[in-house]
Parts: sequence; structure tokens; C-alpha cells
Amino acid sequence: MPELPEVEVTRRQIEKILVGRTVLGVDTTKKSYFFLTPPAELRARLVGRQTKALTRVGKYLVAELDDGSRLLLHLGMTGQLFAAGARSPRLLSAERRATLSPERAQGFEPDQHTHLVMRFAEPGPNLYFRDVRKFGKVAWIARGEAHERLDKLGVDALRVSGAELYAALRRRAAPIKSVLLDQSVLAGVGNIYADEALFLAKIRSKRPAKRLRPEECERLAAAIRRVLRRSITRGGSSIDDYVRPDGSDGAYQTECHVYGRGGEPCRACKTPIKRIVIGGRSTHYCPTCQK
Ligand SMILES: [Zn+2]
Repeated sequence: MPELPEVEVTRRQIEKILVGRTVLGVDTTKKSYFFLTPPAELRARLVGRQTKALTRVGKYLVAELDDGSRLLLHLGMTGQLFAAGARSPRLLSAERRATLSPERAQGFEPDQHTHLVMRFAEPGPNLYFRDVRKFGKVAWIARGEAHERLDKLGVDALRVSGAELYAALRRRAAPIKSVLLDQSVLAGVGNIYADEALFLAKIRSKRPAKRLRPEECERLAAAIRRVLRRSITRGGSSIDDYVRPDGSDGAYQTECHVYGRGGEPCRACKTPIKRIVIGGRSTHYCPTCQK
């Protein structure tokens, strides 16, 4: 699932092909839960609009349009936002990839999973939003209107301070791992980065969130910012279907200390990494390094 770093990497690449361009045409698939705004309305609202800026709030991308309205984009589980001309066999599902000829896998043409295509008046590539499982979301937000999906988000994880984290954890009795994944507490942290940050901060994943001391919150906030920034510089993690908008893979997953390393020796102390389930999510930690 794309997490904050993947969404930020996507933002930086998509910004270049979206900002300053005027929408000439919009193609969509038929009405579905992918569209929070019905496709027909979306097409009507977007044509003629120019994007002024592309911002990120947690795992959401928000295109600021020239009439003050906004376009909200969320990658969901398997969403891929990319420019025409991106080349990667990862753009195709594993199932379909196996049946494709190498020539076919080289380029990409919009298929039944490409729910949104934006064409522009200025020269340059089209923008595609493809999502095999359709847990991604697209919504148009009128000028001056709020949106519940943005309103309920907590502090952006890339900018969180120790004091903000300490304040947010005060009334939470749930394990710190679960609370870090709660987007209303901290926007943008997902499973990989929660495990990695807790390892770097030397904090055991099962500890009740409200028991963390201020100095531990400082360590944890610094660790969260560090793992997210590092992942952004590495292009995110390519696990499952995530690809960068240019079609290349991220590389952060090869650097994980604990995530996906159950049974393997801790890189710091050689103790085997433990894998447990907390709140329905697989959780990895070092029983020696993390207290
Ligand atoms: Zn260790």
C-alpha cells in the first residue's frame, strides 16, 4: 500500500506534469466507489481548469485549481498515478503480466483499470490514474468547501514534533504501533514505517501509547521523520503494486531494519527479529533493542 513517502514521491513527479497545465479533456471509467464525485460531474468540473499547485496532506494529494476548487486524489491500496510514456511491467497486475508479450509490457495503454485520464491543452504527456482494486479515491471539492476526509487527519507525519506526538498519545491506551497507524492521530504513517520508526526509537510496539514518556516521544517523532525522509530520497518502497510515476521502482524496502525480516538477525544485535500481529497488522520488532 502506498504510504506517505510513496505519495510524496508521486507528488514531486506528478507536480511537473500537472501544475500550469489546462485540462482539455477527461476520460473516466463508469460510476463506482472509486469516484466520490460522479464521473460525469468530475469531467464537467475539470475541463478548462488549470492546476496552480499540487500539495500533499497525509496520504492525500490535493490539486489546487485556478477557480479555487480542489481535486482530491488518494492512491488507496493499489493506485498508480503516472504520466503517459511510463515504462514498467509493474504497471500491470502480476496475473496479466505473466500473459503479456515482452513488447506489450514495454509501453502502457489505458486499460479497464485506468479510471481517470487527464488530457491537457499544453504539450506534454497525459496523466493516468490506474487502480486494479479500486480502493483509490477521486473527489472534486468546491471552492471554500471543507472535505471530511481531509478534516479528520492528524498532524502530518513528515513534520510531527515530539511535543505534538506526546499530546496526541495522552489518552490512547492502545498499543503504540496501532496508534501510529491511526490517521486521525498522525497522517501518513503506514505499517512499514511504523515498524521501522519504533525500531529506530528503541520502543516496543506493544506498549500502551499513553505510557510513552516525553523523551521517548521526541525520539519517536525524530525516528518517524527520519524514516519517511530517507524513504522519499530512495523513491519510496516498491512492495506490491507501487511504482513511481515514471514507471521505476522505489528502493527503500531493501533498507528495512525489521519490516519483513521476521526470524532474520537484528542488524544491531543479531537477535532474531520477531513477527507478531497487533491490531490485525503484521508487526516486526527486535526483542532486545526495543523496550
Ligand atoms: Zn536488536
